[in-house]
Amino acid sequence: MKTKRVELIKGDITSLDVDAIVNAANNSLLGGGGVDGAIHNAAGPGLLSECEKLNGCETGHAKITNGYRLKARHVIHTVGPIWLGGFSDENSLLASCYQSSLELAKQKKIKTVAFPGISTGVYGFPKDLAALIAVKETQRFLKKNTYPEKVIFVTYSDDNYETYRKLLDDSIH
Ligand code: ADP
Repeated sequence: MKTKRVELIKGDITSLDVDAIVNAANNSLLGGGGVDGAIHNAAGPGLLSECEKLNGCETGHAKITNGYRLKARHVIHTVGPIWLGGFSDENSLLASCYQSSLELAKQKKIKTVAFPGISTGVYGFPKDLAALIAVKETQRFLKKNTYPEKVIFVTYSDDNYETYRKLLDDSIH
């Protein structure tokens, strides 16, 4: 039997018992608002100490740390692009966030990884377009690789859940 490799849930990513959660970080990797702040709050000071040693992260790239007090064993920090109207390579930079995060998960043989909507909060990326890129890049990666075994998209709002659900339903046909 073939098990589903992509799941969709609504809720708080910091509460998930998975191998890795992805953080929508900023270039400093030293914490911020939104999901970044929530992850640092839940993980405790150990996470910040490890992040301080990483020398930041470029937009579109990703770095991995331990999960500390989170249930998740690891945090993959990726830095999404700030939406500047769509003329500054935002689409390919966001695609690169998903590719780099999934590549790290593959290297570490991580089985289950959960993503929030990278760049769709303060960074202002249109949510529908961001969901399309997230689903497309993830499916492309999973087709070619056995790790991660499962990817979970975590949405924080109802409208965004529907957007993902439609994209995932459509992709079955
Ligand atoms: P960015 O700066 O990359 O835009 P934000 O943290 O502002 O990052 O928002 C990214 C997405 O994460 C938004 O869609 C926001 O609704 C969502 N989000 C915020 N907190 C959480 C959380 N605890 N769990 C899951 N998603 C969250």
